[in-house]
Amino acid sequence: MIETNGYAIHEAGTDFKSFNFERRDVGPHDILIEILYAGICHSDIHQARAEWEPIIPSVFPMVPGHEIVGRVSRVGANVTKFKDGDLAGIGCFVDSCRDCPACEGGIEQYCIKGSAQTYNSTEMDRVTPTYGGYSKNYVVDEKYALKVQEGQDLKGVAPLLCAGITTYSPLRRWKVGPGQKVAVAGLGGLGHMGVKIAAAMGAEVTVLSTSPTKEKDARALGATSFLNVRDEEAVKAARGRFDLLLDTISAVHDYGAYLNMVTLNGVMVVVGMPTESVPFHAASLIGGNKVLAGSLIGGIPETQEMLDFCAEHNITSDVEVIDPSRIAEAYDRTVKADVRYRFVIDMKNA
Ligand code: NAP
Ligand code: ZN
Ligand code: ZN
Repeated sequence: MIETNGYAIHEAGTDFKSFNFERRDVGPHDILIEILYAGICHSDIHQARAEWEPIIPSVFPMVPGHEIVGRVSRVGANVTKFKDGDLAGIGCFVDSCRDCPACEGGIEQYCIKGSAQTYNSTEMDRVTPTYGGYSKNYVVDEKYALKVQEGQDLKGVAPLLCAGITTYSPLRRWKVGPGQKVAVAGLGGLGHMGVKIAAAMGAEVTVLSTSPTKEKDARALGATSFLNVRDEEAVKAARGRFDLLLDTISAVHDYGAYLNMVTLNGVMVVVGMPTESVPFHAASLIGGNKVLAGSLIGGIPETQEMLDFCAEHNITSDVEVIDPSRIAEAYDRTVKADVRYRFVIDMKNA
């Protein structure tokens, strides 16, 4: 076993503490990654605070972190994709059954038997706990690690491993491109990546936000319009305007109000996962022959495609880099929608 350490929460809602634990030895197909940066996703907060229970139980001690970039420091005998010193990334899952239709189709996040999450989960043996990226290193099968190109701003690459793929995948699935009007609801970690990626795909992007102070940023990120959703007149005027609405909102909100802004035959894709159920009236869906869809991160092949797309289009996340001692403060600010636009923990000296 490899002795290592990270930052763990020992009970829902308490502070992070330094935590010593073990990673498995590097097996023939494994790589050891020395973590450079780990992004803070709102899903980390939901789980650290046990807000998704009982749907997703929180298991403690928990070392969150599923937006991981680092350098390979050891490779197993049969590893072919990586060599010592290469950059590598890890996203939200680190293994899956490998033989169900989802795994064979490269959408391992939907593994019928349930994939092994990067943290708050177990290995596929269903016994060994997984600990995430707020830590010194990670041992992962190379099949579940991503190639990261050199020459990029690595602190801004880390959030691509969740926020990037979670927005890229539905934009691709619903074939977003030039001539289409896309709305991104919620300008946080996911939302700001959604704006950058949809704009790079050629769409005309509007940000739907509760924070009027973010308008200037929204335009700098690639949006051509900004709508304050607290302005009832503006929301009414936007009825039927968008071909696709990407909902990245982390808190309970009225889906119907957002569906009303979607055009005839249009699509609203929900990726934000509020902690409570959200009631909405069927009329807002039926009236315009609309589609209400969901999407969970992305599989390994599409995550690699997204990383290469972002490298090609010079897209990284806008980040605020923090020391591990400031994780609790970053959580509180993220919950208040006061993040511009992703907190990333510098794990190099942790
Ligand atoms: P985040 O950085 O906190 O951004 C969420 C944004 O939602 C806020 O910045 C805010 O934007 C908006 N918002 C917050 N409260 C709101 C309210 N009451 N009404 C309307 N808008 C509100 O969070 P994130 O990391 O982007 O994650 C967003 C959600 O996606 C979380 O629930 C997370 O768990 C989930 N998630 C899902 C997947 C997936 O695979 N489906 C993957 C990752 C994360 P404004 O200030 O612009 O209003
Ligand atoms: Zn995430
Ligand atoms: Zn499977």
